[in-house]
Amino acid sequence: MYRFFFLLCLMPLITLTATGQDYQAERHNMVDQQIRNRGIRNSQVLEAMRNVKRHLFVPEQYRHLAYSDRPLPIGHQQTISQPYIVALMTDYLELKEDEKVLEIGTGSGYQAAVLAEIVDQVYSVEIVEPLAHRAQSTLGELGYDNVHIRIGDGYKGWQEHAPYDAIIVTASPSDVPPPLKEQLAEGGRMVIPVGGPVFQKLVLLRKKDGKVKQTDVTSVRFVPMIDEEGDRH
Ligand code: SAH
Repeated sequence: MYRFFFLLCLMPLITLTATGQDYQAERHNMVDQQIRNRGIRNSQVLEAMRNVKRHLFVPEQYRHLAYSDRPLPIGHQQTISQPYIVALMTDYLELKEDEKVLEIGTGSGYQAAVLAEIVDQVYSVEIVEPLAHRAQSTLGELGYDNVHIRIGDGYKGWQEHAPYDAIIVTASPSDVPPPLKEQLAEGGRMVIPVGGPVFQKLVLLRKKDGKVKQTDVTSVRFVPMIDEEGDRH
């Protein structure tokens, strides 16, 4: 009898998993508890993060953890950032609908999707080829046709489409790469983690009258930005 009752309770869960669970409730909770409650009130950012199906950007074995308050492995020694960090960095970019954004470190493509929900065009550079291909196919399947991915060393930015209204860097170099400063538009904003190989500070830069001003935001932990030989920038 008890066993039957237990099974009956599990039925909806089993059916949902089999048909591909949508995790909408988890996604909304994530936004309320991890992001809104920590002070991020930018409705564009909150809405974008309610919309993007984070569980489809993580490897299948971590899908059940996709909405938890932590980064997750995505293979090739890389990680998808903690949701709060994605929200915080996006918030600092002060994005407008008609803007063009450059991301360095496509990884899973999740951050690119969040940006693509808000702005017109997203350009993203990834150095690990298989990650770039996987992100491309995830984003394609989900219909994000305003995200453009290039394989290469993002230290150099993506000159062809510059200048960018905003630049977000999700791998950490020891200093701000000069080409990224150059590719920032007048009035543009950049968020980037700079510092040591393990711990860094998140820095916000703004270009005004051709000059770049820098302020520190908080301490963070990102994977290192590497060059084509695998050495840290
Ligand atoms: N934004 C990603 C998380 C990225 S993790 C997401 O939403 O999932 C950092 C990524 O930066 C990794 O995928 C790593 O391979 C990439 N990376 C490291 N050095 C790089 C470089 N020089 N140019 C471009 N990408 C780089």
